[in-house]
Formats: sequence, structure tokens, C-alpha cells
Amino acid sequence: MELISKKPLYINSIEDIFTGDGFEMAMSIDCEGTNYDKNLENNVKNLERFLQKATDNDITTILFITPYFADMLHKLDLVDKIKYKYKVIFGLHIHPDNFPSDIALQCPFIRPDEEYFASYSYEEQKKMISLSMNYLEERGVTPIQIFRGGCFSMNTDTANILLEITDIRYESHNPFREQYDVEKGLLNSIPVYALNRDEEIRLEFFTTEKLEAMLSDAIMNNSKVMGITHSYMLDPNDFHYERDGIKDDIHQRLDRLIKVIESHKIHKVK
Ligand SMILES: [Zn+2]
Repeated sequence: MELISKKPLYINSIEDIFTGDGFEMAMSIDCEGTNYDKNLENNVKNLERFLQKATDNDITTILFITPYFADMLHKLDLVDKIKYKYKVIFGLHIHPDNFPSDIALQCPFIRPDEEYFASYSYEEQKKMISLSMNYLEERGVTPIQIFRGGCFSMNTDTANILLEITDIRYESHNPFREQYDVEKGLLNSIPVYALNRDEEIRLEFFTTEKLEAMLSDAIMNNSKVMGITHSYMLDPNDFHYERDGIKDDIHQRLDRLIKVIESHKIHKVK
């Protein structure tokens, strides 16, 4: 049996993200549930491979975790291992139409076809956040330092609830998406790196060559790059690859982006 140190190898504080000078990169994974992950177990089993590659290259990965995903991490006994071995920050991710029954049964107001969290009232959102936070914490997924709504859906009520009942002071979204509608100044924002509504540094989008070019531009502009990908791409054999005609899996794509960063470092030194 592998021994896991109880002392985390890294500090993993959200406050340390993007505080340096010039270009910096972090990754984020929306860790979904049974709505998008048709084989959640296989995808979770491929998570460490991604975290190891990122950590080895000094890239922190923010995991935005739904209750279903937290439950699978816990069942596979991976929570402590991930916490202590990798550069990882935990965040809360909510899709109101995809809750385990423990939560869903306590939320009779849920509309099965409603995918946007922000379409619920203050009290309804508060109940869902409270139950989800407890659910994650009960499975060891702590501390939870940041929030991202499913489909980036959140509004000012969401921010106020997070301030009121949690220690979360950060959120992440694509600034071009209309599902995000939050008063400024309530929470700290770490947005996804995006050029417009659909052009994000999203590992499963575009060709690898286009992602490499986008990242290269971002490096030249000294940008802070929060990349994004999804748990349902973690297993290279996941059906999404064939269905959507995606060449190169996200592990290969991450590797290629790391090489872009390395090549810029070499040029700078010369
Ligand atoms: Zn999601």
C-alpha cells in the first residue's frame, strides 16, 4: 500500500493564484456528474494522471466539483491522495438538474429541465449551496475555496449567499457568457481565459495547433491564463472523443501547451 503523507506537499491557496508578474497559467476542470459523465468512474480514475502532469510543470489545477463527482472521488478513496500530493484547489460546481437523491429529495422546488442555477430564488439557491457544501465536506473535499456555476450560471444572489454561509471568496466564469450576471466587488473573480463567448483556452475545443497559437499569443501579451476542461474528457476512451471528432486527448493537449510555455522560456533566456 502506498503511504500518503498527511502533510500536503503544496500550500494550494487560492490567494496565491495569479499574484506574480507577467504570464501565468492555471488549469480548471469542471468535475461533472452523471449528466455529462456517462462513465464517471473511468473519468475519475484518469484524474491523477492529469494532476501529476500539471503539478510536475508547476501548474495548479482548480477542480470545480459537483456532489456526484465528490461521491465518486470518495468511493475510490482518492480525496486525501489528491489533497496531499498535487497542486490542487477545490471549488464548488453546481448543476441543479443533476443532484444525488440525498440532496434532490430535500429540494422539492427543483425543476428537472432547468439547467441554470441563477434561475432559482435566493432561498432556493441557499438551500442547494448549503446542502452541496455539506455533501462535499462530509466526503473530505475541503477546503472549498472557489465557486463556478454549471454553464457559468450565477447571479448577485449567488455571490451574497456564498458570502453569507460559506468561506468562499472567489468565483470563476467566462466573462462573455450571459449566464453570469453578478454585481462587481462582492467576490474576487478568476475568469476563464477567453477571447469571446466561445473562444476559450478549453482543452477539448479546436485543434491542438489552434490552442497552441492562442496560448502563444497570451504568453506574448503577459496574460494570466486560466484554462478550462471537463471531467468527461479525462478518459481518452470516453465517447465524447469519437462523437465530436476530437483529435489528441486532453492529456496530450496539456502536454503540448506545456511545451509552448517551455519554448517561450527558452527564447526569453537567449
Ligand atoms: Zn458543469
